Amino acid sequence: MRWTRSLIPTLKEEPAEAEAVSHKLMVRAGLVRQLAAGIYITLPLGQRVLDKINAIIREEMNRIGGQEITMPVLHPAELWQQTGRWTTIGEEMFRLHDRGKRPMCLGMTHEEVVAWLAAHEIRSYRDLPQIWYQVQTKLRDEARPKSGVLRTREFVMKDSYSLDRDEAGLKQNYELHKEAYCRIFTRCGLTFHVVESDPGMMGGAVAHEFMAPSEAGEDEIALCDRCSYSANVELAVSRPLYPVFPHWDLEEIATPGAGTIEEVCRFLHIDPALTIKSLLLMTHDGPLLALLRGDQRLHEKKLARVAGEARPAHRDEILTHLGAGAGSIGPVGVKLPIIADESLREGRYTAGANKDGFHLRGVEPGIHFQPRWADIHHVSNGDRCPHCEGSLRIERVIEVGNIFRLGTKYSVPMKALYLNEAGEECPIVMGSYGIGVARIAAAAVEQRHDDLGIIWPSALAPFQLHLLPVNMRDQKTVELAEALYAGLQLEGIETLYDDRDERAGVKFKDADLLGLPLRITVGTRAIREGVVDLKERISGKEVQVPLSEAVSKARALLSRPTD
Ligand code: ATP
Ligand code: MG
Repeated sequence: MRWTRSLIPTLKEEPAEAEAVSHKLMVRAGLVRQLAAGIYITLPLGQRVLDKINAIIREEMNRIGGQEITMPVLHPAELWQQTGRWTTIGEEMFRLHDRGKRPMCLGMTHEEVVAWLAAHEIRSYRDLPQIWYQVQTKLRDEARPKSGVLRTREFVMKDSYSLDRDEAGLKQNYELHKEAYCRIFTRCGLTFHVVESDPGMMGGAVAHEFMAPSEAGEDEIALCDRCSYSANVELAVSRPLYPVFPHWDLEEIATPGAGTIEEVCRFLHIDPALTIKSLLLMTHDGPLLALLRGDQRLHEKKLARVAGEARPAHRDEILTHLGAGAGSIGPVGVKLPIIADESLREGRYTAGANKDGFHLRGVEPGIHFQPRWADIHHVSNGDRCPHCEGSLRIERVIEVGNIFRLGTKYSVPMKALYLNEAGEECPIVMGSYGIGVARIAAAAVEQRHDDLGIIWPSALAPFQLHLLPVNMRDQKTVELAEALYAGLQLEGIETLYDDRDERAGVKFKDADLLGLPLRITVGTRAIREGVVDLKERISGKEVQVPLSEAVSKARALLSRPTD
């Protein structure tokens, strides 16, 4: 493609509001433009990247027996009412009315439509299993659309759905998807981890996420340095490393002026792991005392799973319910429901005495108070693995895909049934599997860039080769570049031909920014000595090759597995 006939609006300046590297680089390299908050236009180079990702996805989905369909973006509300998600999903769903005042919504995912289709088209066990997939626009009114195309309100997802007779079938299709996803992300040049995850609003019992490590990610995962344990921190468990517990008897001690764990520990010369952190939370069912070890943090989502949504109590609420300030509250003698983190099951601790300026030393959970036990702590770097003696490492990641074993959560309410061999009606067992297409592109940019720009893996690069004549005003240079361009096209090498009459510096900067795998520079030596420069973006290695060999050398370099 000739640059002069293309829309490649590269920018020197990064967009003012951008934080994520991928956001800055994808805008600067002319891949996308923001139309409104979380709504993007994909420009020609960006489109080529998405097309490549989609081609890989389709190949791998077809390979596991997936059949491509297209479901509508506009859904009648009844479908979502039938499964209950019309009410359980909040503001994230775009809702509207048609001219007949019928409530509708814009599809944020397609389990309901799939179950509707299955209810109408699947009759008997002979029709199963099935895998249906689509590459389709989703709409979600995300609370904080940010980070460029990593989180947008309109985005393309590859979503697939498996339909099976039983759990065994589902398990098989789930494994097939897991393998297909691994191939997809590997082919896209991503570094990623497969981790256990929380099924959340999708429901179902088992779910995994595909996580690409990056500072721009919104998720965190815990990975064991010894065994294969890996999980989203929303789910990850860790075994505590116990301190040596002193032989404390239960007694009240004065801790004047010491409110925070840090202050109490300094005052008493003890380790934070010997204290209980008490948090008064307000839930729908009233106040709740949550307890953690002093060196640990509360994971709000973990708590929400066992106690529902909660908010920290205000100062006056703490005083009303516990009779002391936040710095002196504790579990002993408290009539409120108490949830204690699992790591408090052993040991004796120092905890607030519910009396300002005092703490209790020697508090034994289970003896001096009776909590409900739950895992509510945030796994930290260095915590012990739940399965082995290894230690856990926390990594920040981008979720690029996820898979859910749904079971019959949607088929039952949608009456997606089949007749088994005995002629009995049974609900179809479903799985659901998603991949964010633009998010893969952004994750690739996050993982592969330098100070100058993007370094595309060749599988995703919008073009394979950047042909850069230094001086378009020189007739001879133009002739050589045109001949090379023709030769490269004949060889089937996707080439971006920078035929602009621009300063060499500008062209080189743009070439680095765009990050195509290979660059051929046609400079003065091409005319004088008949050689051109061939440079690999990833290694920065540059070699001189005779003009006559440039195309074959480029072909050889491009067919090498570089990623
Ligand atoms: P997240 O936790 O990031 O909101 P999700 O759990 O809502 O993701 P799914 O609904 O399962 O994700 O969607 C499947 C895939 O679609 C995700 O793994 C991600 O790659 C992509 N995706 C989800 N939401 C967005 C979004 N707002 N913008 C771009 N891609 C998205
Ligand atoms: Mg989401």
